[in-house]
Amino acid sequence: MSIKQKGGTHTCKNCGHQFEGKVCNQCGEKVFHEHHLSAGHFFHEVIDFFYHFENKVLKTIWLNFIKPGFVTKENLRGVRIPYANAVQLYLVVNLIFYLVVSKVGVTDYIPNPGDHHYYYLSDYPAFRWTEKADTKMVSAIDSAYTHKQRDAYTALMENYNQRKDSNGNVAVYGPWRKDSILLPANQISMIALEEARKLTRASFTANVKTFGKTLIFLLLPLIALVFYLFFRRKLKYYGAALTLATHFMVYNLCFYSLHALINVGPIYINENFGGWMMKPFYFIFYNDYTSPVSSFIFGSEFEFMHLLFWIPWLYIAFRRLFNTSWWKNLLASYFCSKIFFFLVFGVLKKMVIAITIWSLH
Ligand SMILES: [Zn+2]
Repeated sequence: MSIKQKGGTHTCKNCGHQFEGKVCNQCGEKVFHEHHLSAGHFFHEVIDFFYHFENKVLKTIWLNFIKPGFVTKENLRGVRIPYANAVQLYLVVNLIFYLVVSKVGVTDYIPNPGDHHYYYLSDYPAFRWTEKADTKMVSAIDSAYTHKQRDAYTALMENYNQRKDSNGNVAVYGPWRKDSILLPANQISMIALEEARKLTRASFTANVKTFGKTLIFLLLPLIALVFYLFFRRKLKYYGAALTLATHFMVYNLCFYSLHALINVGPIYINENFGGWMMKPFYFIFYNDYTSPVSSFIFGSEFEFMHLLFWIPWLYIAFRRLFNTSWWKNLLASYFCSKIFFFLVFGVLKKMVIAITIWSLH
């Protein structure tokens, strides 16, 4: 029993503060009763924890998905108890995302070797002047990868050379060293090359996930910075921009997960469903007549697809949060999406590939 004084006040067991009601208004400790020690109460608390946690997190993820900017607005005006906080959300969604992705296949956040060839900043008319730096970076990544292949090849050849018999052939044993395959002397280098390629690719694939997962965190402060630059006066604090950036990223990862799940569904269409959904949009925006204009405004079809799910979310979120005029919102959501695309595909993806290659041994 808590020490009960006259007038229904309690003395907090934790901080010694005197208070009325069920919870200490200084530190949040609950009033203690002896029946809290019962097994029934223990299990009740366990169930309560999971039920509340799940309910809160899922509800917040859902609200963030269907009502862009709503959770952010609540957070910024100080209503926080009913929703999961940004860090919880991010961690849960990140977990779901990588679970889905590792079951369904790679995406843009876990690139394949060679993916660094896909995006050049100098593809944009306004950034033609970056072409030299662009090409330099891509060929640096290329040659780093080739170096790793060469190292693997050299190591394999050394190993084979040591095991040559009198005719120059090498016996390769199975895992139980029972029987062997004889590699003919004139084919050893070819086989070593093939093997080196496979090994390098395999260790790239094994490592790229870790870096993809880690570096995705770097996006948050950068996106926040972009938001902050656009809405400095409305946001007031960079921390507020960080909250918005996290909520946007949570939406983004939700969308990717959904998209990946939809894609595996109807395999019998013999075409991915996500691509199929895009067809009407491509038909309107990327036909013979509209393509030049669309390419100028949105970039490639691939970029357009991303803008299509980023711009509306950002537009609605900005309207809800900042109350600015529609054309300002439109411009801000357009440019934020463009910058975001550049950060993901121009910077992050290449960085993940470069660091993964660099880490191979
Ligand atoms: Zn207290």
